[in-house]
Amino acid sequence: MPGNQNQGVPLLADFGEFGGRYVAETLMPAVEELAREWPRAWADPEFQETYRTILRDYVGRPTALTPAPRLAEALGCRAIYLKREDLCHTGAHKINNCVGQVLLAKRLGKTRIIAETGAGQHGVATATACAYFGLPCVVYMGAEDVARQALNVVRMRLLGAEVRPVTSGSATLKDAINGALRDWVANVHDTHYVIGSVMGPDPYPLMVRELQRVIGDEARAQILAHTGALPDAVVACVGGGSNAMGVFAAFVGDPSVRLYGVEATGEGIPSGRHAATMAAGAVGVYHGMRSLVLQTDDGQLQEAHSISAGLDYPGIGPEHAFLRASGRARYLGVGDDEALAAIQLLARTEGIIPALETAHALAGLPAILGELGADATLLVNLSGRGDKDMHTVMKRLDPAALGLIGEGRLP
Ligand SMILES: *Cc1c(COP(=O)(O)O)cnc(C)c1O
Repeated sequence: MPGNQNQGVPLLADFGEFGGRYVAETLMPAVEELAREWPRAWADPEFQETYRTILRDYVGRPTALTPAPRLAEALGCRAIYLKREDLCHTGAHKINNCVGQVLLAKRLGKTRIIAETGAGQHGVATATACAYFGLPCVVYMGAEDVARQALNVVRMRLLGAEVRPVTSGSATLKDAINGALRDWVANVHDTHYVIGSVMGPDPYPLMVRELQRVIGDEARAQILAHTGALPDAVVACVGGGSNAMGVFAAFVGDPSVRLYGVEATGEGIPSGRHAATMAAGAVGVYHGMRSLVLQTDDGQLQEAHSISAGLDYPGIGPEHAFLRASGRARYLGVGDDEALAAIQLLARTEGIIPALETAHALAGLPAILGELGADATLLVNLSGRGDKDMHTVMKRLDPAALGLIGEGRLP
């Protein structure tokens, strides 16, 4: 393991050469407090009971497992089951993590929550959890993103959060991360930093995975109840990797179940405009952890691109890097256009409009079926709903593809 945990609290997670605790000296006590207190909270029946009750009464769990027979027929496979995280309150899985972390923060006596956000989805989920618990919330967001994601800024403000635009650097996600880290250094005594995916210094990647594993635990029991057997493969899209780790966690010990993560190749890896950390990243230290990171030849962070805001992240959780290195999970890439096509496919075959992020997982299915054959039963994590993406879809889709031309219905 990296030699950065020397005399402090031992690392909670062993992800081989990945992970670790790379933070400023001033933050080490807060990170070590989390590493000490998180396992205690998670093992405490009272904490569990409160968390489970919130998931049931507020988030809307358990979410459904929906058979998708018309999608399976269209793709030529035996069966596909969709784990419906799109039905969670706020429309995606992120809320599972946010309510858990804010609950932990309260237990630790913290009175203030901070977060950073790229497109705003994690900011909205954190602001939601803070409103639920009645805690003040500050969300750092690159000024570029504030301008591009006006709707999410309104949502956060409605929920009572303060959105602080960050104007340094390229005024995007990495600068927002720096803003949040600076705030945390200054206010660490009373402030908890809610990280939104299986990222960051130990114990965050492990903690966020455990807060999302409810997805996999539910889905495993549900698919056994539906089919009497485990699926042949579990498929999820990967930005930072939290919805994928949440569903993988319940199946990683089942050798017969293959695990597939799908990352965003955007406009194509040669274009440089992609978020394909697995395919094109290199090992580096970023956001408090050692993992794969998109970087230039001289080791500078390279900005990510994807049509889906939630996959537009230049790193990946260290456990994914570990699962790939060990061969337990496989990762493939899907581009912007394929994701747009997959949205239409699911909408038309099953009457479900998925998020653009989720559409990457769906667009990866033909390649996966190519490996597994037509007899396969697949479990796909439907990480979120597509309502937030309608503006992007409207701009990008050829109106003819929506069937609006030729009927006199277009101006
Ligand atoms: C944020 C988001 C993702 C990507 O985040 P992960 O941590 O990789 O899960 C995927 N799908 C949806 C709907 C999202 O909002």
